[in-house]
Amino acid sequence: MTEPSPAGPLPAISEAATDELVAWFADRGEPAYRARQVLAGVAAGRANGFVELTDLPLRLRAELGEAFRFSTIDASHVVATDGGQTEKAVHELADGQRIESVFMQYPGRGASAPRTTICISSQAGCAVGCPFCATGQGGFGRHLSAAEIVDQVLWWRRSRAGLLDPEHHLNVVFMGMGEPLHNADPVFQAVRILNDPQRVGIGARHLTVSTSGVVPAMDRMADELPQVNLAISLHAAHDELRDELVPINRKWPISAVLGAGRRFADRTRRRVSLEYVMIDGINDAPLEAQRLADLARGWLCHVNLIPLNPTPAAPWSGTPRPGIDRFAAILRGAGVATTVRDTRGRSIEAACGQLHAQLSRRALGSRVASPELVMVEA
Ligand code: SAH
Ligand code: SF4
Repeated sequence: MTEPSPAGPLPAISEAATDELVAWFADRGEPAYRARQVLAGVAAGRANGFVELTDLPLRLRAELGEAFRFSTIDASHVVATDGGQTEKAVHELADGQRIESVFMQYPGRGASAPRTTICISSQAGCAVGCPFCATGQGGFGRHLSAAEIVDQVLWWRRSRAGLLDPEHHLNVVFMGMGEPLHNADPVFQAVRILNDPQRVGIGARHLTVSTSGVVPAMDRMADELPQVNLAISLHAAHDELRDELVPINRKWPISAVLGAGRRFADRTRRRVSLEYVMIDGINDAPLEAQRLADLARGWLCHVNLIPLNPTPAAPWSGTPRPGIDRFAAILRGAGVATTVRDTRGRSIEAACGQLHAQLSRRALGSRVASPELVMVEA
C-alpha cells in the first residue's frame, strides 16, 4: 500500500465537474472544448492513462497527470467462470480497501444484441448486517466516492474491448458490496456521471439501484433520478422474519419500505423490482408466498426470486429448484409478475462480498485454491 501524500491523493478525473475542468484549462489558456475532450476520452475506455489521450498535445497530457488521478483503482484481480461469461474483479483502492465488481455477458440471440451487466459496489463493506450476506458478515469499511463507483465501470470498459461497440447493451446494477442509499450523495453523483451522454452515456433505464430499504433516500431517488430502476431487497413478507434477515427493517418496517416503493412507482411510472432470496426452510413456505403476493399485488412491481448462495458464516442453504418453482407458481397464480434469477457465477461466489471474504483470508495475488477458478492478474 502506498502512503497518500500529506496533501492527500490527487482529485479523481472521473468525478471532476465539467465547469471545474473548463476553468482548469482556462488557467492554462486552453479552450473549453478541451475539458469535454478529456472527460469523454476518459469515459470511453480506449485510453489506459492520460498519456494515451492522443487528441491532446503531449504537454497537456503530462500536466493532467500531475493534477488528476486517471483511476481510483490501484490494482485488480479477476476470477472467471461460466466459460468466461461471468467474471469477478476484486479492486484495491488507494487506502488498501478492497471492493468487488462482477461482469456478466449474455450472448445475443437471433435479432437481439448481446447484453452485458456490470454489478458494482457502493461501499467497502456494509453496515446493514444481513446475516446471509458475506458483505454484511464482514461489517462496514467506508463509503466510496463517486469516482470509486464510476471507475469500476470504466475499469471493465478498458479491459473488455467488446463493450466499446455502440450496439452493445450495457446495464449497470448497484448490487455489489454496500448499501447504496446509505451513501446516497456519491451514488447519485455516480449515477449522473454514468448517465451523462457527454461522459459514460449509459441510459437511465439501464441503471438499477438496489436497496435494503432506506426510506428517505428512496423518496429522494424518486425526485432526483426518476428514470433509474429501483430494486428493493425484501427477502421476507412479515416483519418478525425481516427484522432478522434484513435488520434495517427494525427502523423502516415492510409497510414503510413498500410505501416508498409504491410512491416511487406512482411518481416515475417505473416497475419496482422486489428481490427475494430463497433460503431453505426459512422464508420459502407456501404461507410466505401468499403473504408476499398480498404485498405485491395491485401496484407496479414484480418479484425476482434468487436462490441463496451459501456463505461460510451462515448455516443456511438455498431453496432447491422445485421449491422455488412452487413458490413462484403461488405468486403467479395470485397475479404477481415473477421471475427466477439464474445462479450466474455461483462457482466464483458472485453474490455480494463473497469473493472478497474468501480473498481476505489470503494475500491478494495468490491463486484461489479451487481448480475451476482462473486467477488473472489485470
Ligand atoms: N445493499 C443493497 C445492494 C447490494 S446487495 C441491497 O441489499 O439491496 C445486492 C443483492 O444481493 C441484494 O438483493 C442481496 O440481498 C443479495 N444477496 C446478498 N447476499 C446474497 C447471497 N448470499 N445469496 C444471494 N443473494 C444475496
Ligand atoms: Fe448490506 Fe445488501 Fe448485504 Fe444486506 S444484502 S448486508 S444491505 S450489502
